[in-house]
Amino acid sequence: MSNSYVLVINSGSSSLKFAVIDPESGDAVVSGLGECFGLPEANISWKYQGEKTKEEIPAGGDHHQYAFERIVKLLDSIGLSEQFVAVGHRVVAGGEAFKGTVRVDEEVVAEIERLAELAPLHNKANAAGIRAAMEVFPSLPQFAIFDTAFHQTMPAKAYMYAVPHEVYDEYKVRRYGAHGTSHYFVSREAAKVLDKPATECNIITVHLGNGASITAVKNGESVDTSMGLTPLAGLAMGTRCGDLDPSVIEFLMRKGWDQEKVFTTLNKKSGLLGISGTTSDMRGILEACEAGDEAAQLAFDVFTYRVAKYIGSYLVSIGDLDAIVFTGGIGENSLPVRHAVLEYLKVFGFVEDQKGNEDARFGASGQIAASEMLGAIALVIPTNEELVIAQDCVNLL
Ligand code: ADP
Repeated sequence: MSNSYVLVINSGSSSLKFAVIDPESGDAVVSGLGECFGLPEANISWKYQGEKTKEEIPAGGDHHQYAFERIVKLLDSIGLSEQFVAVGHRVVAGGEAFKGTVRVDEEVVAEIERLAELAPLHNKANAAGIRAAMEVFPSLPQFAIFDTAFHQTMPAKAYMYAVPHEVYDEYKVRRYGAHGTSHYFVSREAAKVLDKPATECNIITVHLGNGASITAVKNGESVDTSMGLTPLAGLAMGTRCGDLDPSVIEFLMRKGWDQEKVFTTLNKKSGLLGISGTTSDMRGILEACEAGDEAAQLAFDVFTYRVAKYIGSYLVSIGDLDAIVFTGGIGENSLPVRHAVLEYLKVFGFVEDQKGNEDARFGASGQIAASEMLGAIALVIPTNEELVIAQDCVNLL
């Protein structure tokens, strides 16, 4: 019997995530990840029928292309290739041009490539993934789902920078945000828990992964978010610096740093990695903290303090809060990170439910705190961007 699956592709700069999603049930029939592209340890792994397989990617050649061809071979071998109705691609930056999901044609891919100036680490790789998929599946409709789309509802007071108007008029320099698909998904899931229509819920969504961002979702719409023109702004992340005084850039350039060195340092060598000096991975930071490593402890403190500060400031954006939702690899799994943030939130009356916090990990949702003062709760909800992408594709077909 043939099914109607959607192949979801998330093509990053050094990785390629894929999943075959059943848009009805939300189940992933196969899911996998090619990672460490360009490095000797490049590999591709996938999970099918409960079994995990991992293969090395040979050195040399184009690893994106290798991974794509391997995925197609895999899907052919398990008889899935004939059962797709669409391919959905995650794209990071949609600028002001894309306010929602669109069907891809040559013009759309060209615009995504042009918008690479807004997401230098991501859009080119996203577009390359789309081109590869269009070649392999020429007869399948392909859709682009933008990380920025959900944030297009932000009011001007939230997205305008306080710079002369021509900077916006001429170059469209403004806050766009990212991770929109994840913030959208978990805010809708939280509305189900609150048992209210999403349009009546005020939620602060906290997505903490390698990239991290926080969004104020008022009456179901994004009204402010921590990422900016590019995904570099806001929280301290795995390797990204997040907010800093813009003068730091000019200062370093006056010291002789060139543009490339500033860019690489702030995007790839900062955040948890920069402060700890050892790792961008929160699990590594937590282990080092346990062992008494002071630099790792400082990285942890900068990370959690900034999360709490953003939540505090978004109470202003939201007004009457219903829920805070933690998601992303760190938000879904790390007890110490959530505990540290909830400690700061005591000032808003939040009391941690320790058992709830311990239970809501490794794929489990749950309530982890409540504030009588605000009449609000804190939840953990695993994100599922692939499901939103698959459903968007099917809705548009
Ligand atoms: P991406 O932004 O690449 O999608 P993820 O959402 O997968 O990233 O999150 C990756 C982060 O989640 C890493 O910092 C990783 O250490 C962290 N993480 C995953 N599992 C745990 C865990 N059990 N405890 C703490 N951190 C975790």
